[in-house]
Amino acid sequence: MTESRIRPLASAKALQFTESVIREMTRFAAQHDAVNLAQGFPDFPAPTEIKEAAVEAVRADVNQYAITWGAKPFRDAIAERYRAIYGMAVDPERNLTVTCGSTEAMMSTMLALVDPGDEVIVFEPFYENYGPDTILSGAVPRYVQLHEPDWGIDEGELEKAFNNKTRAIIINTPNNPTGKVYSREELQAIATLCQRWGVIAITDEIYEYIIYGGAEHVPLASLDGMSERTVTLNSLSKTYSVTGWRVGWAIASEEATSAIRKVHDFLTVGAAAPLQAAAAAALHLPESYYEKLARDYEVRRDILSESLERAGFRCYTPKGAYYIMTDISSFGFSDDVTFARHLIETIGVAAVPGSSFYHRPEDGAQKLRFTFCKKKATLDEAATRLGKLVAT
Ligand code: GLN
Repeated sequence: MTESRIRPLASAKALQFTESVIREMTRFAAQHDAVNLAQGFPDFPAPTEIKEAAVEAVRADVNQYAITWGAKPFRDAIAERYRAIYGMAVDPERNLTVTCGSTEAMMSTMLALVDPGDEVIVFEPFYENYGPDTILSGAVPRYVQLHEPDWGIDEGELEKAFNNKTRAIIINTPNNPTGKVYSREELQAIATLCQRWGVIAITDEIYEYIIYGGAEHVPLASLDGMSERTVTLNSLSKTYSVTGWRVGWAIASEEATSAIRKVHDFLTVGAAAPLQAAAAAALHLPESYYEKLARDYEVRRDILSESLERAGFRCYTPKGAYYIMTDISSFGFSDDVTFARHLIETIGVAAVPGSSFYHRPEDGAQKLRFTFCKKKATLDEAATRLGKLVAT
């Protein structure tokens, strides 16, 4: 046998992670005609203004590459919003990179700023992408638990996770999958440790506007002394219900931005030019748009949590984002994957197995995550189907 036959075709890096469980659940749901409450994408229309702006851009022949780090009117609009809402000084020429969704923003940031052997702190449960992001950049993940039922941080545990090898910490607020919204005090504790250890904070704020009951979203970069050492990631996906457009951005210091821009350029060249033109229009929607977005999601959250609780799930009520993490122990299944399959095949509702948010699968074995970024009719249909479930 030749050596090429012995060596697997996949790289050592690619062999270390599996395909996305979230995307796999979407495909499995489609095969079984299940109501898809697994992957977080809306099934209702995007705002008319932004669709019209995209159509107009295509008609106007905005067909060629935008500047690799992003079309100027879009970068200007992003910078202006951060100034207006949070008083943050973002220079569109020096601090901003437009990417293919926040997924690419995260990957480009990690590849640009993290070296093999560096440690990266990840709060757990985590959004599944952060695992492969860490592996692909050669880093070693260090997990810090968010403790149930409120997903609080133990400051002693957090402090212990920092050491001389720590390069970065990933924060996601509002949080997927728990719905936690990090408080100003928690962020301040993280900021203090980042400053003490010279660590970069990478903060995924994609659910920024999806926030409930008066909770406040605080960008880590807006805390004293943090703009220099924070990379803030965001995208159009969740705020404007266009997850398939793949338009996101990274805000960072000038030095970090020049590294992120280089990686981004060679990975993707740039995000879709006509959609960047439309994105500038999205960022000019009135404030009432964001208020309604949050209010409408709060109604959907309450509809879904009521149906889930009626069916026998225990819900961790989210304060932000559009997921409900649930406890499935009342159903008596050995693990989350078996139960998720049963739910799709027998009941006709898809969710994401809790284990995909933990590095030790057993920690998520009695959990499932449901999304409520769906029309009322979809949530009602899911409720009817969930009514067939029997808790033990
Ligand atoms: N963020 C979404 C989720 O957690 C989906 C993201 C994706 O599939 N790219 O379901």
